[in-house]
Amino acid sequence: MKFACFSHNGTQAIGVVDAEASLVRPLSPAVRDMVELIERYDEVRGSLKGEGAGIPLREVKLLAPIPNPRRNIFCVGKNYRDHAKEFAGSGYEAGAVKGAEIDEYPAVFSKPPTSVIGHGDTVSLHPHVTSAVDYEAELTLVIGKAGRDIPAERAYEHIWGYTIVNDVTARDRQRNHKQWFMGKALDTFCPMGPWITTADELDPENLDVKCWVNGELRQNANTRDLIFTIPSLIATISAGLTLRPGDLIATGTPAGVGLGFSPPKFLKPGDEVTMSISGIGTLSNRFA
Ligand code: MG
Repeated sequence: MKFACFSHNGTQAIGVVDAEASLVRPLSPAVRDMVELIERYDEVRGSLKGEGAGIPLREVKLLAPIPNPRRNIFCVGKNYRDHAKEFAGSGYEAGAVKGAEIDEYPAVFSKPPTSVIGHGDTVSLHPHVTSAVDYEAELTLVIGKAGRDIPAERAYEHIWGYTIVNDVTARDRQRNHKQWFMGKALDTFCPMGPWITTADELDPENLDVKCWVNGELRQNANTRDLIFTIPSLIATISAGLTLRPGDLIATGTPAGVGLGFSPPKFLKPGDEVTMSISGIGTLSNRFA
């Protein structure tokens, strides 16, 4: 199933999305919060129904599926070979592993909850703090079951669903501050959506990831090319750290980001970035 968080006539709700019919049906009994739905899913799934004929998606405002994550969004850097290569050659790489194309351990950082926006919202370019804003399309895991020290072979038991994150990055800040948080944490730098597809509907190891800037295809890859697999990422991040329902893990971006071009193609006011992942949907945001 696909679950969206949306507002309609001033009320926020969770609904079941019928993507083919472009409709969303509010849940009955009503659930207002996606994390609450995730936490209670096993108990309530049998009685959950989308209510009524549905509301056309064009009549609702889609919000990020988890608009107020309870803590930072975990993110993985350099997790596709071609992207690791374009990054290593760009002059924007930060940190102790500078120059290495493929690392022995995954680079993990986070984005704060205040960076989250939804499909259709505007990303601020923050021109007073950066002049090198870039896009990154990423398959994002939504944790369903809490756990610490999760072994890779049990990792999928902890995933409730999948969504898309645009890991928007200020490359100059990423380079200048010698780590990744400062360039990735700005307000509006985490577009998320358009909704969550539950884990039973997808093979996450074979999903097409695409991204267009103003209609020009820039990123085109498949999650089978991840360097650090989904189970290994969960095992690594949960080592000594409890993952909780509603936690999000963005799995890294393929090649084709702006810094990979010569000269780099950073985003400008008015640009529209659209990303789609097979089986999930399309996330689109304008930059201003
Ligand atoms: Mg990223």
